[in-house]
Amino acid sequence: MSEIQKKYIPISLPDTGEDEWLATKDSIMSGWLTAGPKVREFEANFAKLHQVKYAMAVTSATTALHLALVAIGVKPGDEVIVPAFTWISTANVVLYCGAKVVFVDVDRRTFNIDVKDLQSKITDRTKAIIPVHLFGLCSDIDEIKKIVKDIPIIEDGACAAGASYKGRPAGSLGTIGCFSFHPRKSITTGEGGMITTNDDKLAELLSSLRNHGASISEEERHNGSKPYILPDFNLLGFNYRMTDLQASVGIVQLNKLTKFIEERNKWAEYYTKQFEEIDWIITPSYNENYKHGWQSYVLYIDESKSPLTRNKLMEKLQDLGVSTRPGTHAPHMLHFYAQKYNIKPDDFPGAKDCNNYSMSIPLFNKMKIEDYEYVVNCINSINLKK
Ligand SMILES: *Cc1c(COP(=O)(O)O)cnc(C)c1O
Repeated sequence: MSEIQKKYIPISLPDTGEDEWLATKDSIMSGWLTAGPKVREFEANFAKLHQVKYAMAVTSATTALHLALVAIGVKPGDEVIVPAFTWISTANVVLYCGAKVVFVDVDRRTFNIDVKDLQSKITDRTKAIIPVHLFGLCSDIDEIKKIVKDIPIIEDGACAAGASYKGRPAGSLGTIGCFSFHPRKSITTGEGGMITTNDDKLAELLSSLRNHGASISEEERHNGSKPYILPDFNLLGFNYRMTDLQASVGIVQLNKLTKFIEERNKWAEYYTKQFEEIDWIITPSYNENYKHGWQSYVLYIDESKSPLTRNKLMEKLQDLGVSTRPGTHAPHMLHFYAQKYNIKPDDFPGAKDCNNYSMSIPLFNKMKIEDYEYVVNCINSINLKK
């Protein structure tokens, strides 16, 4: 590699710039900063794109998931099924409701719920299941539905804005969908999230729960003709409102989502083609039923054939200036859950392997052709040393 100029390529960078900056100006100049007209516009656009009746903006996917569980009535004594390979907050929100996390194993090829492991996790206390559309690939919802029947499905679509399954968008596949606009996701508002549903009653409840459980919105209250009205509160709610500043950025980002995903798809295909001949790299697995959202491009390293272990490979790539990360983690192996439920890593062997052998490589909209080529060259140079 000595003749190649060394580069530095981060794992991800949000694609924000002048458009997003200018978009915040209206809100700042108008003085209406919290949830108001921009949030409503962002929600309407998001709902349209994901083919749902309602979209409600909140502060993160974590708070979206929390509200979803509260809205369907998850409480102490209940169980909620969560995949054992996901960001920790998918599990944490269950504990916020005082309920029990029941992990289900994942498939090493799709990184999503292993449907074969699901039946045995269902009990008469199962109140909900949270399938995760990890890295932008939807869970196999039809197969999951066959097993869970009418147990409510809360989609963790944190990575899956714009993705779809058999032609149906993420967020429209279950009872409630939850999305993230953290800068590591395909579109961002800094921090932020969205809840989707087609259910009128749940929508009303979710909308009130994110605003302290208030009976009317801030906008209705301040723009109405009755200044003496304070909302009534019938519920224990939260302040999970998104600001108009964030929504202004979200509107611009959402307009670019389709283009972002097309570009990501093109580069994902490029990577997959380049690694075809390398027998120790298993590239992301999906078929024509799925439109992948490509929040991350995640490889699975077959250490029985690879010249280096996954961790050594990551170190070597880091030395060459290519950032990598484990795909995500297995919450059942994290101290908190391992101890709380007395779980061993091998209780969920699929999730354990994904935890140990997954490797996310750079793929983001600001990346240039020569950056992709550099990543491939670096990996090839390691392969040739085999
Ligand atoms: C990022 C992520 C979350 C959390 O999203 P926030 O908006 O940061 O709260 C939850 N679940 C999955 C699968 C994620 O990737």
